[in-house]
Amino acid sequence: MCSEKRPAPARGPSFGWKKSTIADEPSRAVALPSERSPIISVAGLTRTYGDLTAVDAITFAVGRGSLFAFLGPNGAGKSTTISMVTTLLAPSSGTVTYFADTEVPLVAGRDDPLIRRAIGVVFQDSLLDRELTVEDNLLLRASFYHSPRSRVDEIAETLEMGELLRHPYGHLSGGQRRRSDIARALLNRPKVLFLDEPTTGLDPQSRHLVWETIEHLQRRLGITVFLTTHSMEEVERADEVRMIDHGRLIAHGTPDSLRATYAHHHLRVPARAGLSRQLADAGFECTEKDGVIDAAVSRAADAIAFLERNTSRIDDFEFIHGTMDDVFLALTGEALRED
Ligand code: ADP
Repeated sequence: MCSEKRPAPARGPSFGWKKSTIADEPSRAVALPSERSPIISVAGLTRTYGDLTAVDAITFAVGRGSLFAFLGPNGAGKSTTISMVTTLLAPSSGTVTYFADTEVPLVAGRDDPLIRRAIGVVFQDSLLDRELTVEDNLLLRASFYHSPRSRVDEIAETLEMGELLRHPYGHLSGGQRRRSDIARALLNRPKVLFLDEPTTGLDPQSRHLVWETIEHLQRRLGITVFLTTHSMEEVERADEVRMIDHGRLIAHGTPDSLRATYAHHHLRVPARAGLSRQLADAGFECTEKDGVIDAAVSRAADAIAFLERNTSRIDDFEFIHGTMDDVFLALTGEALRED
């Protein structure tokens, strides 16, 4: 029989018989971007601080042109990894290689200036001057790379910055600042753009604008995007996800494949005499509360089969897909932050 406890996520029931809306996650028939064509190859990367191993012999690749999400709870080792991959921090051991499949691979520690020329980095703390206008900030930064003014104009057009250019950076909204930071990181025509929690602290509208910018860069211009994030919404957009905890890689896949492996769907049906027993006999773990039975379901097909066998007794149901939040919780014991 079902227990009395109702599992998370707790949402009010809203029933509706729409079989077409339930489907199992697609199985992964095609190779992941990192398997097809890696632009960054990391092998055995390790960083210790005294007795603490912040990053513990991790090996992974980032696919050319992909949106790669690096996900993990606080203290997992994300920043330490990204610092090593961007050549800002020397590893204790292991290697980071860019363009390994080309005639001119670049190796961190040996080719740092060349790697820095090939990447753009947007960390949480902006490099831009609050007193200067966005345009003056960009022109100043462009002079560091000996980039012509036309490069600033080109980026402003690509990111549709318009009037934004004339405003002092310090007067902008959070989303406008983040777009300006991204513009700054594009001055050297990077092949890979690193974004550290790009939408943290932004309101929904600003988040949307920043995401339009990121997707434009990835899809239209073919820039590889490497982002660290806590946000479920951002993870869902990624082509490939790597999860890290306690310095070790703990999961890898597409958002779909990770959900299929680690998250349960939920089938909710109105409670009827004997129904919870039937669900339990069919192998579903279920709970019952306030006249609703909630069954944890691994495969949508099993839920459909159960519903079809019991159409005379079930006239309404709700099917809730597993989320990346469930994946994160299952793997790390913590909830993903929704910001
Ligand atoms: P994340 O970015 O996932 O929050 P970090 O890479 O910042 O994680 O940190 C990983 C671990 O390494 C944490 O335990 C953190 O306290 C430790 N750490 C990070 N930087 C240093 C440092 N400079 N000195 C000592 N310990 C550090």
